[in-house]
Amino acid sequence: MEAELAIDVQANYRAVLRRVERAADRAGRDAHSIRVVVVTKLQPVDRIRAAIKAGARDFGENYAEEALPKMQALAGEGISWHMIGHVQSRKARLVVENFALMHSLDSLKLAERLDRFAAELGRVMPALLEFNVGGEASKFGWDASNEERWDELLPEMEAILALSHMRVLGLMTMPPLFSDPELTRPFFRKLAHLRDFLRKAFPHHPWEELSMGTSADFEVAIEEGATMVRIGEAILGPRPRVA
Ligand SMILES: *Cc1c(COP(=O)(O)O)cnc(C)c1O
Repeated sequence: MEAELAIDVQANYRAVLRRVERAADRAGRDAHSIRVVVVTKLQPVDRIRAAIKAGARDFGENYAEEALPKMQALAGEGISWHMIGHVQSRKARLVVENFALMHSLDSLKLAERLDRFAAELGRVMPALLEFNVGGEASKFGWDASNEERWDELLPEMEAILALSHMRVLGLMTMPPLFSDPELTRPFFRKLAHLRDFLRKAFPHHPWEELSMGTSADFEVAIEEGATMVRIGEAILGPRPRVA
């Protein structure tokens, strides 16, 4: 408990924004084109409130059920919620009802369910396509590790782009984690290349957003073109370790 009080969320948030600015400068990019999504999984509501006080407006959760009570507690704060975790098809309705952006769209089946619920609710659901650029068995997303097989992804992408109540805005990835963020750079670069590839295949879609980079490596992700970085512990402090 003592340790929790010592976490200065406002100072952390400001420090992260400065690092975002410096990374954007290095890359010759406008820092305003980069959105910080504060990842709140396993974090208590008071730390989220402190982040709101510091100016944060975008928050990411991995599980809809965990997010709902936090959303209720913070209703009226004018913040947006992002779904960043794997969603089972039977939870699709919760996502459409409660989240502004789905970062982790990882199957045609899920896209079809989201589309159906979005149609029922009379909304269009913005989403990012999640790719597994490192080919790790533990990660979700379409396997995009082998560039020579990207063509095989196109039929499913085309089917998703045709859904009338989904709007695909870009790509997302959770690359392999290394202690040296430089080692993650090739994976971020790969996602950016994949974006260029999809842009060529489907030029009438925007493909603007690249959601990549966490506390461990967000500066490298920004240098490689990230437009959204998903940052948890660097802002809200350590998560309780689950047994
Ligand atoms: C937990 C999580 C993050 C944030 O990780 P930190 O190390 O706390 O910055 C980002 N993206 C996804 C998909 C996550 O699950």
